[in-house]
Amino acid sequence: MDAALTYPPDQDLRRLLRFEPDSGAIWLGERRMVLLHTAALTALRHDLITSVGKEQARRLLTRMGYACGLHDAGFAAKIRGSRTLEEMFMVGPQLHMLEGAARVTPVVLKMNAEAGQFEGEFRWDDSWEAHAHRLNYGVVDEPACWTLLGYASGYTSAFMGRHILFKETRCGACGDDHCHIVGRPIDEWPDGDAHRQYFEDDSLLEKMDALSQQVEALKSSLGPTEAGGMLVGSSPGFQRAHDLMLRAAGTQVSVLLTGETGVGKERFARALHEHSERAAGPFVAVNCAALPAELIEAELFGVEKGAFTGAHAARAGRFERAEGGTLFLDEVGDLPMPAQAKLLRVLQEGEIERLGSESARRVNVRLVAATNVQLESAVERGLFRRDLFYRLNVYPICIPPLRERPSDIEPLARHLLARFTALHQKRLAGFSDRALLALTRHDWPGNVRELENLVERGVILAAQGSVIEVEHLFPNQPDVAHDGIDPQGRLARRAPQDEQALCERVLDSGVPIESLEAQVLALAVERSRGNLSGAARLLGISRAQLAYRLKRQQPAETD
Ligand SMILES: [Zn+2]
Repeated sequence: MDAALTYPPDQDLRRLLRFEPDSGAIWLGERRMVLLHTAALTALRHDLITSVGKEQARRLLTRMGYACGLHDAGFAAKIRGSRTLEEMFMVGPQLHMLEGAARVTPVVLKMNAEAGQFEGEFRWDDSWEAHAHRLNYGVVDEPACWTLLGYASGYTSAFMGRHILFKETRCGACGDDHCHIVGRPIDEWPDGDAHRQYFEDDSLLEKMDALSQQVEALKSSLGPTEAGGMLVGSSPGFQRAHDLMLRAAGTQVSVLLTGETGVGKERFARALHEHSERAAGPFVAVNCAALPAELIEAELFGVEKGAFTGAHAARAGRFERAEGGTLFLDEVGDLPMPAQAKLLRVLQEGEIERLGSESARRVNVRLVAATNVQLESAVERGLFRRDLFYRLNVYPICIPPLRERPSDIEPLARHLLARFTALHQKRLAGFSDRALLALTRHDWPGNVRELENLVERGVILAAQGSVIEVEHLFPNQPDVAHDGIDPQGRLARRAPQDEQALCERVLDSGVPIESLEAQVLALAVERSRGNLSGAARLLGISRAQLAYRLKRQQPAETD
């Protein structure tokens, strides 16, 4: 056998490996190791393939093997610095065996360190990874010893100081009785470039980012028909807001939409966009409260490649993506101060600067901002820039909460019913009268969004062909004392005899009526687990009435 292909004794390597069970550590030289069950690694490998797909799993495992090889290359010169180049190189295959990857037999090894030339072929018997792959997937068409190949590539690349790519020409996972690997510099492989992806980092995150941008664009393109139909309401308060919106649509003015959570600010913004001459352009929505403060500037204004760690590629911000259209900034009150300063500049100059960029680019974007907090008081408290507030507040539109426009509840509920029955393929004959009454009595802290959720739930819970009843809308609430027809044919509380008996017991008990009220209120709040709307429903009063009664019980000096 060729002398270059024989292993020197591996005593020097075995001495590196120390088990220290008392300190809970295993060492290879100065590097800490762990013993893992191949069964656990097999399971992890399988999970990776299932959750991120074969290509991404291959990349992650290749990179893990590559890192191991890279570290082991550090031992070569340290341990066998005085030996021949080939003996020094054999540290890799010998360590790979010591670490339990496979039995490695050198077949070809030609290298010239100065010229950077490398050609190597090795035989692997009993690769743990080929076994693992066959265990989960049976015999496959493509070689699968990704971690092991990563190791060989990492070790040899570090040893040679240039990227050496190893590929399998036979593999146990493909049904061969052993694996066979061939390595040479990556640029000498005709398909070398196609393999570079397996050694690169981070591409998964960027792909997910790209995908989420696509989803967002699709959503924007689906939005309009939905938006037009959702602006339902004929109450004066709603009509006033609607008129203001229509009049702003024909202009370029920046609009500030205010109103409680769930009143439909984004729908107003979409409708404004749809009625404007920018309708053919994109509508891009950003929820400032949903983005972490450290990402928001990159998200809004974009980044240049290398602007910060992790900025692997230049990326357009939302402003640029809204070019020619409308940018909707929801919960603008949550913008951090530095981002507020930048936003103000954009509004003043009509130009944005990507993070890490020296030059400004002009943008043609109509801004619609929205907030559910009082921006004036945020300004007073120093949390929001006054100049930005004035800039945004040129054309404010306040969308009233649902409880201030009760006449809109029923038409909205019917509109939503039509939408959700179509969506869930249900045939329903509408709402029961009691359900409609419960809807109008509810005081809607979550506004239209809450109504939407309730109606969708009702559509799902009601039986095919029936009507939506109270318990379908408010399924977690115990049945409320409800109205019926008394013997005189008038609307009255059911079971008046029971009530009379109850009143007599109260009188007999001698409990003062105020204390009784306090206890009943407390019980209702407790039964609805602190949900005041639920408690009010149990008591047959409005949430505001309940809040008033609860407050009345507290000593005046509590605040
Ligand atoms: Zn293999």
